[in-house]
Amino acid sequence: MSVGILVFIEHRDGVANKASLEGITAAQSLGSQLQQQVTAVVLGSDVNDLAQQIAAYDIQKVVHAKNAKLENYTPDGYADAMERVVRQLDPALVLMTHTYLVRDFAPKLAARFKKSLISDCIRANVDGGKVGFTRRIFLGKLDADVSSDGEAPVFATFQSGAYRADQAAKGSGAPVEAMDVEVGEVRMVPEAPFQEVKQAVDLTKTDVIVAVGRGIKSKDNLVLAEKLAEALGGDLAASRPICDAEWLPIDRQIGSSGQTVAPKLYIALGISGAIQHLVGMKNSGTIVAINKDPEAPIFDIADYGIVGDLFEAVPVLTEEIKKIKGS
Ligand SMILES: Cc1cc2nc3c(=O)[nH]c(=O)nc-3n(C[C@H](O)[C@H](O)[C@H](O)COP(=O)(O)OP(=O)(O)OC[C@H]3O[C@@H](n4cnc5c(N)ncnc54)[C@H](O)[C@@H]3O)c2cc1C
Repeated sequence: MSVGILVFIEHRDGVANKASLEGITAAQSLGSQLQQQVTAVVLGSDVNDLAQQIAAYDIQKVVHAKNAKLENYTPDGYADAMERVVRQLDPALVLMTHTYLVRDFAPKLAARFKKSLISDCIRANVDGGKVGFTRRIFLGKLDADVSSDGEAPVFATFQSGAYRADQAAKGSGAPVEAMDVEVGEVRMVPEAPFQEVKQAVDLTKTDVIVAVGRGIKSKDNLVLAEKLAEALGGDLAASRPICDAEWLPIDRQIGSSGQTVAPKLYIALGISGAIQHLVGMKNSGTIVAINKDPEAPIFDIADYGIVGDLFEAVPVLTEEIKKIKGS
């Protein structure tokens, strides 16, 4: 019998990837619109603790697919295990988050069902009982609506930040079902632990981001933004020109060719709000923009805005935050 929607939970050493929790929100949203149940799947040799944590969400059940070969990620192992799980559970939809790990094995998995992968979606809607996915194309200039005419299962991945992990509804404790899965020959083993992003700080996991744009004018002025980030206990990020100029490393870049983030608070300092930047941060909880141009597009998506000179506003803001925090 079909389980409805299957959501894949990625983890490293039993710790769930935050983006996977966004997948639960996506699955719950589609599940309620389609009136289908959501099942989560975790793969591993023994990740029962993680399975129990996922069981706290409002879902039908958690499947813990087990095999000793699943202790560490391998594309063969994950594709084999997920194939077994999908064949056994027969879901209508298989949802995953568009991480590097998923990108590595998910096309292979979909191909085993003679299906394509509807990848890197930014949202999904149900119309007439059918799911329509939206993907950004031409570097964010156009949105393409995509649906599958074929039979189930439909395989889709969502961009990190497309849904909010903190909006995943908790339930009263879903059952965890252990499933022994066969895994064939593992032909390729990643050398080092799989790095989602090579960086000192993973901006997808931070709650507060202070991002600087060209309005900051020079590398020496970054200290202003650093002090604000420090006062808020947040991390520094940037628009592309700042990273192109090597004022900050590339792993701090937010946008279509950088990271996609959804922190609780995103403060944009001297950032105009080009579409390539917005796609990387528009799902942030609260967006604050400081820009001297009242027509800057960043104000279209900002919850709070200061039209003014960041060199005047930021030191005052930093001092006030420090006072409130008593630091
Ligand atoms: C293929 C492609 C991929 C791209 N990928 C990305 C990406 O991943 N991320 C990204 O960010 N961009 C990306 N871009 C670039 C993007 O199109 C914009 O050029 C870029 O986001 C602009 O950066 P900015 O807002 O810092 O600079 P600008 O557009 O120059 O804006 C600077 C802003 O600062 C304001 N300002 C100036 N002085 C002050 C002051 N004293 N106080 C307050 N405000 C002030 C100005 O009013 C202005 O709005 C990409 C472009 C292409 C073509």
